[in-house]
Amino acid sequence: MIHASLKQLSQALAAKQISSVELSTLFLDRIERLNPQINALVTVDRERTLNAARAADARIAAGTAGPLTGIPIAQKDIFCAEGWRTTCGSKMLANFVSPYDATVIRKMEAEAGLVSLGKTNMDEFAMGSSNETSFFGPVRNPWDNARVPGGSSGGSAAAVAARLAPAATGTDTGGSIRQPAALCNLTGLKPTYGVVSRYGMIAFASSLDQAGPMAASAEDCALLLNTMAGFDERDSTSLDRPQEDYARDLDKPLAGLRIGLPKEFFGEGCDAEVMAAVRAAIAEYEKLGAQIVDVSLPNSHLSVPAYYVIAPAEASSNLSRFDGVRYGYRAPEYDSLDDMYMKSRAQGFGAEVKRRILIGTYVLSHGYYDAYYLQAQRIRRLIANDFVEAFKSCDVIMGPTSPSTAFKLGEKAADPVQMYLSDIYTIAVNLAGLPGMSVPCGFVGGLPVGLQLVGNYFAEAQLLNVAHRYQQATDWHQRRPAGIE
Ligand code: GLN
Repeated sequence: MIHASLKQLSQALAAKQISSVELSTLFLDRIERLNPQINALVTVDRERTLNAARAADARIAAGTAGPLTGIPIAQKDIFCAEGWRTTCGSKMLANFVSPYDATVIRKMEAEAGLVSLGKTNMDEFAMGSSNETSFFGPVRNPWDNARVPGGSSGGSAAAVAARLAPAATGTDTGGSIRQPAALCNLTGLKPTYGVVSRYGMIAFASSLDQAGPMAASAEDCALLLNTMAGFDERDSTSLDRPQEDYARDLDKPLAGLRIGLPKEFFGEGCDAEVMAAVRAAIAEYEKLGAQIVDVSLPNSHLSVPAYYVIAPAEASSNLSRFDGVRYGYRAPEYDSLDDMYMKSRAQGFGAEVKRRILIGTYVLSHGYYDAYYLQAQRIRRLIANDFVEAFKSCDVIMGPTSPSTAFKLGEKAADPVQMYLSDIYTIAVNLAGLPGMSVPCGFVGGLPVGLQLVGNYFAEAQLLNVAHRYQQATDWHQRRPAGIE
């Protein structure tokens, strides 16, 4: 049961081979035993979880269950969930208990009947690529405890890789689902911007943030996305489109699929052995009937600089709400209202978050706005146009997810620019608002490598199909870290 797919779990629950209470207990016990070493979850509430599992069992008994009712899942601690502590990895929210549910939580728990096992560790306010900026300490990669799991959804990735949960939610502003998925041998999907509601998801960079599933396979991701996606009038950027079944095309043959390889993703900057694994995956796709097309994303080298203007600009505005007044951390001692704001923010935010707020405030300031923010927005448009052009001659774009395998804890922590460059292949996809995935495609020195798939707008079902067929032909996604029985 610990290693079963969501479909297998669904069948076992429907056939009453196991109850949701039994299944949830199995995972809660694993969390109790293994989490102290990995630090993947920051909040667990056995009673809340078991209550939800009992309700799921009642639905199964009554015949009103959906396909995922009763299946346990770990939730990134960026989603507000009523009655749960929601920290966003920050001291600022270390004692914040949400009075309401994010739409993702409501859809997964109340509608689909999934059972939340707990909240996963993450980089503070989702700012990071290693999970080292968390107020709750770093997460250890189950493939090598001396290494990072990636970030910012590092706790979600490590939780699934160590099978503390069958699946998890993540969010991806600049790669935070895809990069940790790659580093922990998971399948992760960032949907088209606007497909999943951001209501109740603590905002980092609102024009980029998007939630998605992290799981062992494309099939699991498809089933999860079915529960997460959908129009929500409470998010003004949510898209009003007909509900889709994201699993509908999983088995479609790939004959004739045109795979675009951007020359910019295959040049310098990527570890040679990672690149070899990516190339081998592409050769496998050719065996499955795909054709290779050369494409170009000429402005992609500007994606990291543009992102590190736009994302901090939006963050500096979004994070102004954490002022110690209505919720969150308040400094114990202060002389005046201004002093209270300053001390609360100085004490409540960590170094990386402060760096982003400073950069964001600077690029938006009078006199610098045109030179930085406006310019970055223009670059963003050029990057999106590059993809529009590329998709005229191909159906999916492929390349590495991350330029290296999981790095050592502390290795990049002192050098922000090195850390930012971990997202060199993922960020352009967020700037363009496109859907992207990471799929396990091999190992280098015992550490997982991820293949990135990028689709055109709303091509989630196609991406999942392309990933699923590869996973039918290979077993990289089924490999497990040593010691994880
Ligand atoms: N690593 C990137 C950053 O720190 C992306 C984070 C994310 O996608 N949430 O901004």
